[in-house]
Amino acid sequence: MKTYQRLLKVKNVVKETMDAITIYFDDADQKINYKPGQFFTLTKEIEGKRVSRTYSICTSPYLDAILAVTIKKVPNGVMSNYLVEHIQKGDVLEVSGPNGNFTTELLY
Ligand SMILES: Cc1cc2nc3c(=O)[nH]c(=O)nc-3n(C[C@H](O)[C@H](O)[C@H](O)COP(=O)(O)OP(=O)(O)OC[C@H]3O[C@@H](n4cnc5c(N)ncnc54)[C@H](O)[C@@H]3O)c2cc1C
Repeated sequence: MKTYQRLLKVKNVVKETMDAITIYFDDADQKINYKPGQFFTLTKEIEGKRVSRTYSICTSPYLDAILAVTIKKVPNGVMSNYLVEHIQKGDVLEVSGPNGNFTTELLY
């Protein structure tokens, strides 16, 4: 599966707990093919520095129409705190991937 780097708009942000959110992406224009178990690398400029971190895709390519990742704050973590505190619907994130070979095919 080919890896792409793209800008994706945040379609929705769901606050799961006090310290965790799910970010849903709008990939309607550029449908992304992925497998269960794969992850994306998200990049954002935070306080003047480009920060990149990996997040597992938490939706199913077989069941879910919308692509998402869930992020939990790590104490003093740069990216996780930024995303949980600041990311909003309509924001744009640099997303590369999907990556990861620890996947499975769904057998019917
Ligand atoms: C394949 C993969 C999939 C992942 N999927 C998910 C996912 O689905 N959801 C999720 O929430 N996370 C996931 N992660 C973890 C994620 O990539 C980040 O590592 C996590 O969000 C922390 O990033 P951060 O920028 O917030 O923290 P960072 O800024 O990287 O800091 C991490 C920790 O190190 C400490 N630290 C930083 N610098 C120093 C220093 N100089 N000295 C001492 N301590 C220091 C920080 O205080 C913090 O506790 C995944 C990681 C991998 C590898």
